[in-house]
Amino acid sequence: LESQFLRSQRMESLGRLVGGIAHDLGNLLVPITLGVKVLKRRVDDTDDKVDQTLSMIQKSAERGSDMVEQVLAFARGVEGERVALQPELIVEEVEEMTTETFPEDVEVHIRTDADLRPVVGDATQIQQVLMNLCVNARDAMPDGGTLTVEARNVDFTEREARRNIEAEPGGYVCIEVRDTGTGMPDDVADKIFEPFFTTKEEGEGTGLGLSTAYSIIQSHDGFMDVESEEGVGTTFWIYLPAADEEATVEAQSPTNGEAEHE
Ligand code: ADP
Repeated sequence: LESQFLRSQRMESLGRLVGGIAHDLGNLLVPITLGVKVLKRRVDDTDDKVDQTLSMIQKSAERGSDMVEQVLAFARGVEGERVALQPELIVEEVEEMTTETFPEDVEVHIRTDADLRPVVGDATQIQQVLMNLCVNARDAMPDGGTLTVEARNVDFTEREARRNIEAEPGGYVCIEVRDTGTGMPDDVADKIFEPFFTTKEEGEGTGLGLSTAYSIIQSHDGFMDVESEEGVGTTFWIYLPAADEEATVEAQSPTNGEAEHE
């Protein structure tokens, strides 16, 4: 528990520092992105070399902006709205995004229990966590494979909660993200939730995806778990506490969703 406390303290100060830098960097990228757009429009199409160079600048600026977004999301960490949400709607969004953008040799399977309980939280943040896990899964399957996302209700008994320090007795919604990718050795799996830990090449990964995911889920009073086997694949679990009865009613009527928000 103490190490969990220290971890969240460390993440908080890191978050502030990094957030400040990212914010300024993001501002610097704006004129570059806009400037390239203007230049691209002016360049005459016969000049390949100039066009290629502009495209290269554009790509780098876009990648930079993506990274800044990731870093800012990490720094923002715990803030977010708290409204009643139906998890299947979030999973459906993720299904749409993955089937639209993932390569064809990555098969995406989505399954959600019909009677999923509502949870309380920030839909955008939870979706971001799921997308992070899905993108990592895709990256772990360079030769294709299967990505499975499953959501189901789970109950922890007093006894199970005692064995798992992060769980409270009661109802949760568990979202499982499973891939048939490279998997990872134990010494990698032990570090993946640490900020800036990455095995990806420079410029490819910030190492903030999973630490952001972890802090977002923790701020929802939930927790995450992972199991991985080299050459077989990796499974992540996100546990979000189920909302109480009142929230259940509100989540069923979309117009009332905001009522939970303070
Ligand atoms: P990034 O994706 O920028 O590297 P993350 O925090 O999202 O940062 O992930 C950290 C590391 O965890 C990755 O570099 C990778 O080594 C490992 N990892 C995460 N998800 C998977 C996965 N599904 N399969 C194999 N390795 C993974």
